[in-house]
Amino acid sequence: MQALQLFGDRDLRLTEVEPPPAPGPGEVQVRVRAVGLNFIDVWGFRGMAFAKRKLPLTVGAEAAGEIAAVGEGVEGLSVGDAVVPYGALTCGRCRACREGRDNLCEDVSGVMGFHLDGFSRERVNLPARLVVKVPAGVDPVQAACAGIAFGTVQHMLFDNARLEPGESILVHAGGSGIGTAAIKMAKAIGCTVYTTVGDDAKGEKARALGADHVINYREERFEGEVRRLTKRKGVDVVFEHVGPETWNGSLLCLKRGGRLVTCGSTSGVSVQMNLMQLFQQQYRITGSFGCRIANIRESLDKMAAGLTPVIDTVLPLADFAKGLERLESRKVFGKILVTL
Ligand SMILES: [Zn+2]
Repeated sequence: MQALQLFGDRDLRLTEVEPPPAPGPGEVQVRVRAVGLNFIDVWGFRGMAFAKRKLPLTVGAEAAGEIAAVGEGVEGLSVGDAVVPYGALTCGRCRACREGRDNLCEDVSGVMGFHLDGFSRERVNLPARLVVKVPAGVDPVQAACAGIAFGTVQHMLFDNARLEPGESILVHAGGSGIGTAAIKMAKAIGCTVYTTVGDDAKGEKARALGADHVINYREERFEGEVRRLTKRKGVDVVFEHVGPETWNGSLLCLKRGGRLVTCGSTSGVSVQMNLMQLFQQQYRITGSFGCRIANIRESLDKMAAGLTPVIDTVLPLADFAKGLERLESRKVFGKILVTL
């Protein structure tokens, strides 16, 4: 069968690999239909942590497919069911796993497609506990946005930032896969959404998603605009994933006691910050990585109810690298998917 594998820095190749054996006890075999691209794929593609990873590595951390075979003792899943796999191989036994805090697993083997072989292959065997059934009414390709993009946003907004109806939120990079999801999820509960974009065409699209205030960060200092628009009060929540380029401005946008939640740092990894501002303003800053399995279920339920992902492009598997380059170029509006 075919798999898309990383052989070195920016060296992705379609290769023939052995298909998996019949699924063992407690396992299912998934026929992968679509893979979602994320910034973690870009880090991998650029060669991050090669020392710790065995190459070649099958890429792809986020996917959707259907059950192709079921191992002994698996209940509630049948051949043909549309499913979304969890993006990391957790232990299923530690306290965090038992309590459903999957992304805090104490004995995780790694992230699929980054540390371990991922989903860009025709078939993959997985523990059945890591597979979520897709509800009726969800497009089987769009479902590939649930495992990371929607799941991460659901976890950031509702588990970590505890966003409440009627609050205000600044969503950075409103045209990104997670930015578009954050705008839609926050608007769905009646929040006031401020968002930053890099050009006016994206601004129009962000407004069409429901963003109340769109700021072109190339033309205006976003922190000044947010403070002006909120009459110097600031917002309740900032949704961060840009890093050094926006970090201190993001803190200036927060209300006293406001919450900042971050899941990424596409502009670099180090910042300097004012600790007096942190404690005097009583900010709460939360790091967020991935999601719980329950967040994938919640995301799929939202999709079934009509909160669909914004799709930028759908490409064939062979064009995965083109998709990553498009993601890096920041020209995207929404998610990039590849189909198998
Ligand atoms: Zn665990």
